[in-house]
Amino acid sequence: MLQDGKIVGYKVNGNKQWISNGGLADVYTVLASTPSGPSWFVIDKGTQGFKHDKPENKHGIRTSNTAALSLSDVYVDADRLIGGVEGQGLLQAQAVFGYTRLMVAAFGLGAGWAALDRAIPYSVKRIQGGTRLSEKQGYTHKLIVPHVARLEAARSYIEETAERIDAGEGSLNTEGAIAKYMATEAGNLAADASIQALGGYGYTHEYMVEKIKRDVRITTIYEGTSEIMEMTISRDRWQLHLKTRGGTIRSRRASWKRFMRRTLMWARRSLPWHSTLWRQ
Ligand SMILES: Cc1cc2nc3c(=O)[nH]c(=O)nc-3n(C[C@H](O)[C@H](O)[C@H](O)COP(=O)(O)OP(=O)(O)OC[C@H]3O[C@@H](n4cnc5c(N)ncnc54)[C@H](O)[C@@H]3O)c2cc1C
Repeated sequence: MLQDGKIVGYKVNGNKQWISNGGLADVYTVLASTPSGPSWFVIDKGTQGFKHDKPENKHGIRTSNTAALSLSDVYVDADRLIGGVEGQGLLQAQAVFGYTRLMVAAFGLGAGWAALDRAIPYSVKRIQGGTRLSEKQGYTHKLIVPHVARLEAARSYIEETAERIDAGEGSLNTEGAIAKYMATEAGNLAADASIQALGGYGYTHEYMVEKIKRDVRITTIYEGTSEIMEMTISRDRWQLHLKTRGGTIRSRRASWKRFMRRTLMWARRSLPWHSTLWRQ
């Protein structure tokens, strides 16, 4: 809305946008199209035309309130435009995706481990056919080991990315997407395998793993679905490849070679059996 040629406010419209804590939060950040492109606005609960629906009856994370928001001609003062300049919305979102996706990656990792932390002790106690489940390779190598390996790989990647963000390398959106994709897919697989690992108990409420499986399911959906992560990762890496005219791959290859050389030198020094083999 213009006054004396100056923008003094906006009318924001939109339908059925899901949001965590919808209806509970006092303040919302809303991304809306403006003539200069997508822009973020701060809108208070209770503003005229701003409504939320009833809480959704969800598959998991049932103690978290999720409701759809609708905006019908909601008037917002111009000073509620984040950053004061229109059209910066996507850049502003990009500035935080590295952190927010890393946060969801941590949910996936934590949930996956919470499930395995129940499956592993069960496998040690449960005797079937005279031996523990934990002694049967058909069990451990299907239901436990691959999930431990995937989650531990995801954990190191999350930690490395978090340390790089803390060290000031920027928001690392692509790395955040890789971490989210890897950890949340691994967390879902681990939770599903843990239901199987507990047999009939796994399917009951009492043993918790079915709840963990329902709760972790959202992590491959919100904050960008796994399919969107795949798209983001391939697009960003391809753009980087083109921008650097293949330089990233070359420098990565050089750093892999350095890593391999260092690992081999360490192995020759530290592992006597290895140095015997090396000399043969
Ligand atoms: C519990 C919950 C809490 C939420 N909290 C928030 C919140 O706080 N804030 C917020 O802004 N949003 C929130 N959301 C919304 C959530 O981020 C979206 O639901 C999610 O990003 C998926 O978008 P969509 O539902 O529009 O799916 P759609 O875009 O309709 O996608 C449907 C399917 O198609 C796939 N797909 C879409 N595009 C492509 C493509 N180009 N290539 C391949 N596959 C594709 C998707 O991956 C998905 O599998 C929440 C949702 C839920 C369920």
